[in-house]
Amino acid sequence: MKPAPQSFTLAEIAGIPVRLHWTFLLFLAFMLVANTLRAGLAASLGGIGFIIALFLSVTLHEFGHSLMARKFGIKVRDITLLPIGGVSQLETIPDDPKQEFLVAVAGPAVSLALAFIFFVLMRLTGFSILSPRYASPAQYLWGGRFLASLASANLILGLFNIIPAFPMDGGRVLRSLLAQQMNYIEATRIAAAIGQGFAFLFALLGLFSNPWLIFVALFIYMGAGTEERTTEIRRVLGNIPVHRVMTTFFERVSPDEPLARVLEYAYRGCQEDFPVVDGDTIKGVLTKASILAALHEKGPDIRVSEAMLTDYTVLSPNDMLAGVYERMQACNCSSLPVLQDGKLVGMVGLENIGRFFMYESARQHAKKQEEERVKPPVI
Ligand SMILES: [Zn+2]
Repeated sequence: MKPAPQSFTLAEIAGIPVRLHWTFLLFLAFMLVANTLRAGLAASLGGIGFIIALFLSVTLHEFGHSLMARKFGIKVRDITLLPIGGVSQLETIPDDPKQEFLVAVAGPAVSLALAFIFFVLMRLTGFSILSPRYASPAQYLWGGRFLASLASANLILGLFNIIPAFPMDGGRVLRSLLAQQMNYIEATRIAAAIGQGFAFLFALLGLFSNPWLIFVALFIYMGAGTEERTTEIRRVLGNIPVHRVMTTFFERVSPDEPLARVLEYAYRGCQEDFPVVDGDTIKGVLTKASILAALHEKGPDIRVSEAMLTDYTVLSPNDMLAGVYERMQACNCSSLPVLQDGKLVGMVGLENIGRFFMYESARQHAKKQEEERVKPPVI
């Protein structure tokens, strides 16, 4: 999978790529210029040092989530650092509420532990929170003042994240606790509503105090909405196996055919991705993107085998659709081949899943209304 161009990999730690969003560099440059104009270069470099140390703390917070998720067999795509904080990209969200609880709690737990460690280190340097604010530059950079700032920043990071504003960590904790008492959808709905309530509160506070809170409010408001939709998708698609929606009518191409032939199929049909087969064995996949790239670079006269992807995701007929949808998003694919005993038996596209979702939610909605109508009145 090609990484998103907005960020680049800084390092890979414990098999998890740590990525930096380009806006983060912009943020550092802005801070450097603004602080140098205001307080001179030495203080400004000290400030940058603090920001870098702070983001190392944020990275460790994210590793808390990521390593806990990995313990439960959940793949971690990467950790991305943005100016507003870090994000762990998990391939799926844990299904078991107890696991979700532990994954959500692990991040703030790391932050609070770091706050404690920095506090102890600060005390070891003989510095106390009550020491004068204006320390010498050396003490600012390496001494107690620096450690005191890091301790309080980590404390805030830990405490702020356990506010139950879904989808922040505390909101996930809340959802996982609710989900142990009621069904997952209901739990998500309540957690999302509380999250959006907090978003309004933050936005209001932001207007009168720190404008940064308005950004946080926006992030929470949109995140809560997305999360509610994703849960709805998982509910409708959860227990539906791939073979219920896979298509068995599709064009397949052979590795030796010219690419121009595939274009003919694409012009006349509505298929965008083509499995490349030799007899019953799948050799590769031609996606819309790979066809376009090959046309640009080599023209239509090459053979299919020169344009096809040989590294691709495959499904089995009994895979559940909810997971398939997430895997398609993960690999940025619009359709995937379905294999049984190594043989190609069908294809599943996003349109198949989308159509199924649309009809099935309409059907379930009608069924629910019918049930409510026949319910005896409560006296
Ligand atoms: Zn977190």
